[in-house]
Amino acid sequence: MSAESKALLAQESDAEPLAERSEVDGEEVVPATWESVKALPALQTPDHGTLICERLVGTSVVGIIIAFCVGCVMLTTTDVPEASAPKASMCRRIIYLEAAIALYCLFTLQYGSRGVLQRSPQACFPLPPAVADRLRAALRRSSTGDVEEPRPPSLSAAMEMAVEGLHNVTDPDPDGRGVYCVRCLLWRPADGHHCSTCQRCAQDLLQDLA
Ligand SMILES: [Zn+2]
Ligand SMILES: [Zn+2]
Repeated sequence: MSAESKALLAQESDAEPLAERSEVDGEEVVPATWESVKALPALQTPDHGTLICERLVGTSVVGIIIAFCVGCVMLTTTDVPEASAPKASMCRRIIYLEAAIALYCLFTLQYGSRGVLQRSPQACFPLPPAVADRLRAALRRSSTGDVEEPRPPSLSAAMEMAVEGLHNVTDPDPDGRGVYCVRCLLWRPADGHHCSTCQRCAQDLLQDLA
């Protein structure tokens, strides 16, 4: 068994998972480490086809709107009487600025991190009991060679299969950890969501427009 798997097995073996780590019945709980995070099954693959389509559509729509607005202003502000020239020039500057801001927002939304939550020892642990039980069982089965057919191609795949069918776990404490996503295997804020295109959890819907 790899060091990462051992680190994961050492996690929370008897812990009350939603409780503070240091207050679990006075027992010392092994703090979560990056080793434990690495032992978790791999994150799911984003739907790249849909992502590319959504980006292309978004970029095209915004591009066409910008081109239309800039074109209209250009057409109506050229060949104006001399008295109106300063106003025309001001209008053009405003529309260029607006176009620049729109492009900046577009590229930030489409290619920025979009509030995507990243795995870390703090984000992934403590595991809710249902998740911990399934992962530990999969690890033990793989270490003893007692793996049911069809045999998963890797330990990560075996663990991924182990958490299939589980439902997200909500921390009953409203000021607690929020919701545990059983696909990303991390805690996200209660108002966060899992995007089925990106296959990642995001802080909130507005930050995930890709
Ligand atoms: Zn998304
Ligand atoms: Zn998720």
